[in-house]
Amino acid sequence: MKEIKCHLGKRSYSLYIGKNALAGCRSYFKKAGIKDKALVVTNKKVFRLYFSKLKKQLQKSGLDVYYHILPDSERAKSQKELFRLYNKLLSLRFDRYTTLVALGGGVIGDVCGFCASTYMRGINFINIPTTLLAQVDSAIGGKTAINLEKGKNLVGSFYQPRFIVSDISFLSSLSRRQRAVSLSEVIKYGVIWDGNFFLFLEQRIEKALAGDLSVLEHIVYSSSKIKVHVVERDEEEVTGFRAILNFGHTFAHAFEAAGGYNAISHGEAVALGMIAAARLANMTGIFSERGLRRIEDLVMRIGLRRSLKSYGITTSKILYYMQFDKKNKGKKISLVLPTRIGHVKVLSNISRPLIEKAVNSLFF
Ligand code: NAD
Ligand code: MG
Repeated sequence: MKEIKCHLGKRSYSLYIGKNALAGCRSYFKKAGIKDKALVVTNKKVFRLYFSKLKKQLQKSGLDVYYHILPDSERAKSQKELFRLYNKLLSLRFDRYTTLVALGGGVIGDVCGFCASTYMRGINFINIPTTLLAQVDSAIGGKTAINLEKGKNLVGSFYQPRFIVSDISFLSSLSRRQRAVSLSEVIKYGVIWDGNFFLFLEQRIEKALAGDLSVLEHIVYSSSKIKVHVVERDEEEVTGFRAILNFGHTFAHAFEAAGGYNAISHGEAVALGMIAAARLANMTGIFSERGLRRIEDLVMRIGLRRSLKSYGITTSKILYYMQFDKKNKGKKISLVLPTRIGHVKVLSNISRPLIEKAVNSLFF
């Protein structure tokens, strides 16, 4: 079992990562001084797989354990489900000293974190991520959210958990595709921050896809370290440093929007977005041909679609949505571009024809 500390002053907390990290729950709760009662929020699928194991651990810690089931998928991040959850807490007489535990993927973590940050003006929140995406990305960084009809993640808060438990054994019940779509974000960490980690991925990406738990453990640990490091430097996106996590995402968000949010998944969009960004960096002369090939090859090996052609979207639609990216300053499109594997720069002076050329290169 490994521990990473996230240093955020009074909001500092630990991430516990390992193949059997859940078994240590008793000591994590004790260390965090958490007692009284806990509501575990999960969905049917994860409940069947892992709830009884977690319940035993929580009971050993002396907690009274309750549970709440949310629907599977984005439907759980809705006003209706959020208010059902508030009412459940109220009916169980949860007060300010009680605890909400998220057991599930990014969907459960996001809605549960938002609920914990607002119920009684904030109660204890523990995140137990069960998907690869949630372990390497969504559980870390304190962003919580629900969706509105007009768009995703439009209401939310920054709220840090008291601790995170990433039990790697959860990842063995995921499908190969679920692992693949999350690996785009993992490759992103290698490109933006750590060339050695990128090399590790080049050597073992097939093992990760196949569900090798030792390889996945290293991936979750390294990715978590990088995300924690970035978040410690810019917790609430004030200095602009946190923007490097957006590598590939300015393109990706536009691909998703142009496809009406149901044509292309986030992981697939990020994979193609990273390729577009790497090609653009190469075209502007700040990134080598060899670096570009390495990114293209690694991204292709995760086995997602290689072209935007079959999604029914167009370059002009994509460029239209890129203008409205949240991270833009004024009219300029801000882009995170690699200068070498392990280092990126944020640039907002790239000409539109070059951006168009990079997007066009994904249609073949
Ligand atoms: P998800 O939560 O929908 O989980 C994917 C699927 O896997 C679900 O069907 C779930 O039931 C199932 N599942 C969960 N754990 C499992 C396990 N161990 N074995 C088998 N099946 C399992 O999706 P996700 O990819 O984990 O997260 C996506 C969500 O995360 C989106 O809503 C996105 O907006 C959010 N997100 C948030 C942040 C953030 O910083 N807060 C960052 C990235 C993404
Ligand atoms: Mg992402």
